[in-house]
This record gives sequence, structure tokens and C-alpha cells, in this order.
Amino acid sequence: MKHTFAMTNYQEITCPKCGSNNLMKVGRNAHGEQRYRCQTPNCPTKTFMLTYRYRACELAVKEQALAMASNGGGIRDTARALKIDKNTVINMLKKSRRPCGGYQPSLATP
Ligand SMILES: [Zn+2]
Repeated sequence: MKHTFAMTNYQEITCPKCGSNNLMKVGRNAHGEQRYRCQTPNCPTKTFMLTYRYRACELAVKEQALAMASNGGGIRDTARALKIDKNTVINMLKKSRRPCGGYQPSLATP
């Protein structure tokens, strides 16, 4: 399998609806989560928020976490390196065969 994972890939944020990365930051919610607005004119997404859990759902991050953990990296180190929650790493290791069901970005109602 060809590995094209780059260190910056997992930080790229895309719209959950149209996949565009043409996004604008529009502040944070009460939980301190960054809120984004999609700039695509006809996109149904108004604003949305990304959490650590959403980022961890991305396949590249998941693969990286599993690879690091199975190579002897500690769960805490793996979580810190990938900027995801420690419990998310644990869950990924437990449920590594499960798809990303349940991990969804929070869609803010306008
Ligand atoms: Zn969009």
C-alpha cells in the first residue's frame, strides 16, 4: 500500500458537506471549539465545528495512531503527536475495525 501521509495532512480541515477547504474561521463556541463557515456559495453547510473526535475519524490519523501504538508508542505520546484525545486513541485501538460511525462534526444551527 502506498503511503502518502504527510505531517500536515491531518490538520487540513474540510467542509463535512462539500469537502471544500475554502473555510473561514468564525469564532469559537462555549466549549472553546473552533467554528468554521464554508465559503462555497451553494453549500448547505452554514457553519460547523470540528472537534478532536472528528479529526480522529479521518483515516490518515487513524492509520497513524494505530501504526504508532503498534510500534511501541505510548497512548499518551500518540495522542499528543496527533493532537487528538487520549481516550480517542484508546477507542481507536479497541475498535480499530469499526468505521467512523458516531464521530460526526457538530453542525451548528444558524
Ligand atoms: Zn461546504
